[in-house]
Amino acid sequence: MDISVVIPLYNEEESIPELFAWIERVMQQHGFSHEVIFVDDGSTDGSWDAIVRLAGQSENVKAVKFRRNYGKSPALYTGFLKAEGDVVITMDADLQDSPDEIPGLYDMIVKDGYDLVSGWKKKRYDPLSKTIPTKLFNATARKVSGIKNLHDFNCGLKAYRRDVVKHIEVYGEMHRYIPYLAKNAGFTKIGEKVVHHQARKYGKTKFGLDRFVNGYLDLITLWFLSKFGVKPMHFFGLLGTLMFIVGFVAVIIVGVSKLWAMHHGMPYRLVTDSPYFYLALTTMLLGTQFFLTGFVGELIARNSAERNNYQIEKEI
Ligand code: UDP
Ligand code: MG
Repeated sequence: MDISVVIPLYNEEESIPELFAWIERVMQQHGFSHEVIFVDDGSTDGSWDAIVRLAGQSENVKAVKFRRNYGKSPALYTGFLKAEGDVVITMDADLQDSPDEIPGLYDMIVKDGYDLVSGWKKKRYDPLSKTIPTKLFNATARKVSGIKNLHDFNCGLKAYRRDVVKHIEVYGEMHRYIPYLAKNAGFTKIGEKVVHHQARKYGKTKFGLDRFVNGYLDLITLWFLSKFGVKPMHFFGLLGTLMFIVGFVAVIIVGVSKLWAMHHGMPYRLVTDSPYFYLALTTMLLGTQFFLTGFVGELIARNSAERNNYQIEKEI
């Protein structure tokens, strides 16, 4: 099969029939064999009924419905498990992404050899309250992930070689960083294609402004995991040791300077009267804590099921 289209959706009943008809039209024009995988993320409107109707009319429909709303990432993850096409395309259900982009994306994967191609909504039809923070978000994501050529990490419209979706694990709200997940899994040929974007036709957005806060926190988590996930001691151990040494040296200085003053008959105070003593003490304590955190992290990493989960590309 050439293409799997994975569509996560949550309460998008009005858009579904229109989107499906459009996808079918494009596929027929280009002679692609394909499947459309709807993942209903616990919709409470008529979305599932609409999907069942489509499945009755067409053999290209596969669908899953969650019992409750889990989020876009779990929906994508589940769709990826089911996908059988050589190229997997994800798109939002709200008609903001255009199925007309599918052939172009397909060619970039198959002919140009990209692992992943992300859409770029260069001209976007969203409120300013969203587009401005998005620019900032993407600049940070570029910096942290080291994927310098992407302008729009969170674009719902993306294409993947099947291998990629079978070897990355999208969870929580990590759908914003799929290119980074792919890169960490060793898929480095990541491209971008400018895509058409439209204003939402039906319904309303499912994400509020908290998306930016959560997005940043997730980015920090990913950065940390990819850098120190399997070797926490390299971060906490170093930090802890340095802090401990600084504190220790400072305590010595505080003590010795008192002894020196006593010895030379100069006025002196109890070391506990000096603020430096407490600063030094705190630094030593924190240093020890960091060190132990690193050690506990190592013990956890040792037991993790992921610890020897490598991406083997070729074997003979
Ligand atoms: N979505 C989902 N589960 C959720 C939230 C959103 O499956 O919990 C789907 C939604 O139905 C749509 C896509 O994810 O197909 C993108 O959502 P939305 O259009 O609300 O996001 P925006 O375009 O505002 O970024
Ligand atoms: Mg949308």
